[in-house]
Amino acid sequence: MDRQTSPSSDFPIAIIGAGFAGIGTAIQLLKAGIRSFTIFERAGEIGGTWRDNTYPGAACDVPSHVYSFSFEPNPSWSRAFAESWEIQDYLLGVVEKWKLRSHLRLNTEIVDARFDEATGSWTLTTSDGETVRARVVVSGVGGLVDPAPPDLKGMESFRGEVFHTARWNHDFDLAGRKVAVIGTGASAVQVVPSIASQVEKLSVFQRTPAWVMPKPDRKYSERAKRFYARFPLALRLSRFFKYAMSELFGPMVFLDAPRLSAIGEKGSMLHLRAQVSNRAVREKLVPSFQFGCKRILISDDFWACFDRENVELVTEPIEEVKSGGIQTSDGRLHSVDAIVLATGFSVGLAKAPFPVRGRGGRILDEAWSEGAVAYKGMAVSGFPNWYILMGPNTGPGHTSVLVYTEAQIAYALQAIRKLLRENLRYVDVRQDVQDRYNDGLQRRMKRMVWGSGCNSWYLSADGANHALYPGFAWEYALRTRKFKSSEYEIAR
Ligand code: NAP
Repeated sequence: MDRQTSPSSDFPIAIIGAGFAGIGTAIQLLKAGIRSFTIFERAGEIGGTWRDNTYPGAACDVPSHVYSFSFEPNPSWSRAFAESWEIQDYLLGVVEKWKLRSHLRLNTEIVDARFDEATGSWTLTTSDGETVRARVVVSGVGGLVDPAPPDLKGMESFRGEVFHTARWNHDFDLAGRKVAVIGTGASAVQVVPSIASQVEKLSVFQRTPAWVMPKPDRKYSERAKRFYARFPLALRLSRFFKYAMSELFGPMVFLDAPRLSAIGEKGSMLHLRAQVSNRAVREKLVPSFQFGCKRILISDDFWACFDRENVELVTEPIEEVKSGGIQTSDGRLHSVDAIVLATGFSVGLAKAPFPVRGRGGRILDEAWSEGAVAYKGMAVSGFPNWYILMGPNTGPGHTSVLVYTEAQIAYALQAIRKLLRENLRYVDVRQDVQDRYNDGLQRRMKRMVWGSGCNSWYLSADGANHALYPGFAWEYALRTRKFKSSEYEIAR
């Protein structure tokens, strides 16, 4: 039955997704005195990435003091780089503290959105067929959500257990088994060292070696935690210091500047030499692309695993999966009991998460047929009162994603306040403003390392980068600081 409901009577706001982005938006709305919002979450619990990624070793490779809301600092992080479960606990705690449960609609997937110009409102349809009206939509659906299984011949014939890192099968005990891990990206470098000592044999299938840097991780003592709790300024300073360091090293990670890259490459090579004693294995682990082109990995124990007797680095391309294992191009059959797919995600940034129809029936996927673009990564012309968090070209390669997310939440909040204060029907970013912004962005993109000749999830099929922001986080935050009415078409 088509039930017309609204999240709240006065000015319904729909937040889609209950990960960091959606929860952060909810908190800032509450702080602004706006309570008329609902968070729609397709899963059964909040948390996004940190709910889904529970594989052994899952952790954030950004220091926790920066990878937490600036407005919800946490003095109790147990270590410099918190594990996944602790980040999820933090988010659950924040949800309880702000009493967000009453605003949450779990197990509710939005499958369609249409804008009505006459009323300046969106009609969202859930997978149950229910329709919900919202004056503003804040979309925080995330970019790296749906696992991308590899397209390998014969996969269906494998008799053992297969699962993706983001869908870890905790009921399957890997202890004493022969296990394959496919992929050597950010997830693999965490899972491989965590299972290497339990399994009988671990075969790591590497297609492209990646640059790995040391991880300055450490436990926080009880004394340190008490200190941060007692002196919030010290926690702020720690956050600022870690953030400033990431920005300082940013150009080495994002600029196409071979001399700068060489510094990172040298550091990584020293790390490799210290970690792997076998020269032949070491050589197979040396990347052939420029530092920063793919995401830099951080680990003190991934490379070291290849010194273990029960861990093998397999670099011959996978030819076929057979019932008992994986056959490589040299004709060898690597017999395994389980295959762990550390093969990444289908990148959700490139397309609309579901059919979205804006003014005049304009379809978001058609507007994005040549690649996803948005003004400052948040607003798309023709789709008024719709704000995307972590939208096109807002991903960082060098620092905490939350610096960007918080800037976006603050921007969306300004738009919401304007709509409310002036009783507007809608605000729609001007096409010329959006085009100018993106032309400038893509001009800057040419100076970035991501297009220097490697394959990564940063790039779409045509080689364009609609994922990352070509610059510093502080600069993005500065650019998005003010919602300027002159850049918008305004309907009263
Ligand atoms: P990823 O970086 O996309 O890595 C996927 C790996 O699988 C790559 O090594 C890739 O090889 C390999 N692969 C894919 N298809 C394959 C195939 N058919 N045959 C053989 N190898 C194949 O994925 P991810 O490691 O899950 O990380 C994705 C992103 O999630 C990261 O870039 C990061 O943004 C985020 N992440 C963050 C953290 C964190 O600590 N903050 C942790 C995990 C993930 P190629 O390189 O040759 O394509």
